[in-house]
Amino acid sequence: MFWQKQAETIGRKTLEAFQLERLQKTVRAVYDKVPFYKNKLNEAGIKPSDIKSLNDIKKLPFSTSDDLRVNYPYGMLAVPRDNVVRLHTSSGTTGKPKALLFTRNDLDNSAQLIARCLVMTGTTKGDVLQNMMTYGLFTGALVMHYGAEKLGVLVIPSGSGNTVRQITLMKDFNTTVIHITPSYALYIGAVLKEKGIDPKKDLQLRRAYMGAEPYTEETRARIENMFGIDVYNSYGLTEMNGPGVGFECAEKNGIHIWEDMFLMEIIDPETGKEVPEGEKGEIVFTTLQREAMPILRYRTRDITRAAAGRCKCGRTHRRISRIIGRSDDMFIVRGVNIFPQQIEQVLMGIRGIAENYQIVLESYDEMTVRVEISKSLYDGNIEHLLELKATVTDRIRGAVMVKPKVELLEPGTLPVSEGKAQRVIDNRTL
Ligand code: AMP
Ligand code: ZN
Repeated sequence: MFWQKQAETIGRKTLEAFQLERLQKTVRAVYDKVPFYKNKLNEAGIKPSDIKSLNDIKKLPFSTSDDLRVNYPYGMLAVPRDNVVRLHTSSGTTGKPKALLFTRNDLDNSAQLIARCLVMTGTTKGDVLQNMMTYGLFTGALVMHYGAEKLGVLVIPSGSGNTVRQITLMKDFNTTVIHITPSYALYIGAVLKEKGIDPKKDLQLRRAYMGAEPYTEETRARIENMFGIDVYNSYGLTEMNGPGVGFECAEKNGIHIWEDMFLMEIIDPETGKEVPEGEKGEIVFTTLQREAMPILRYRTRDITRAAAGRCKCGRTHRRISRIIGRSDDMFIVRGVNIFPQQIEQVLMGIRGIAENYQIVLESYDEMTVRVEISKSLYDGNIEHLLELKATVTDRIRGAVMVKPKVELLEPGTLPVSEGKAQRVIDNRTL
């Protein structure tokens, strides 16, 4: 039932003492080793010795995704380059990506956290986990992979896509657990139905770990019924290792954040001040045991709230609600983070395309880009502009890795905005 029982059920007082010690160490390390942080702390008038209580974290400056980009590739490294054994990058970037570097201990810690998550939801040695996240620079697949291996689970590194092969693998190797995005789970469910395969009878699936994008309680229920399985919400972000930052336990009543690894705060995104207990705000993390790239007070932009009370499972690590939304304009399709500016950049580089566009989201696996063509191109008809439409589709796919549905529109179709344009029309319910 527990992977690291002592750490998972640690008393709050002991945990807080541990957090303070690690926070002090972390601040000292970045001050000494990372010029970027040294400058930032100096500017804020803070010395590492000023951190005397956990509350003093509020004196520290925030870190943002822009800070990571500016310091790409090695600027935030706090250990010699030779001690780094892994690179991951994050999706959803314009220009430079965010590079995250890990030492062997960092990777071991991330694998331990995954092992905790798997054990807490009933997975054991003997289970077969089919890992349907994208392998590569993303954290999603690899971090889960090594964590599951650490536990002694048989991992099938099937990656995402190629649904027919996924189904064959699930059948042939008696897959019991899948790691998947909700949008892909819904898609596989539909394909199984089409092929007359009843997952409840014809497959051995017991549970799914589902994350990388927001989804509702209703979507969880739908997928649970479709497959006859338990679905657990998995929350993470590249900057904090990827998966394994937070995970639901068997109670399915909030996401436990592993607070011995990540110090969590929930703040008002406008003021930067802590919100009252239980109110919604942006979750901010400070790494407590990172060697290669410690990060102070990282602004995730994810909106959630802390859940009240102790969990029945016995773990003392606090829980948060499902991610309710984001405080910036990033959106997620097929598990990929996308900023409207990325689409805009592509559109502005194509001749014949005007500046007015909209991104319409009806589901988590598709986006529609509606864009006006330029007046000079318009001859009363747009049906024949197939080549232009193909160019827009291909360029967007090249930039964000998701193929959009593209609608070309007559000039003047879209509303002209006063002030901030509403570029993203998100009709998905959450
Ligand atoms: P990435 O760094 O590409 O792994 O993306 C991380 C982002 O994906 C997070 O900041 C969230 O916005 C989103 N995300 C990850 N897991 C979940 C989840 N379980 N529910 C909602 N959003 C999630
Ligand atoms: Zn619990």
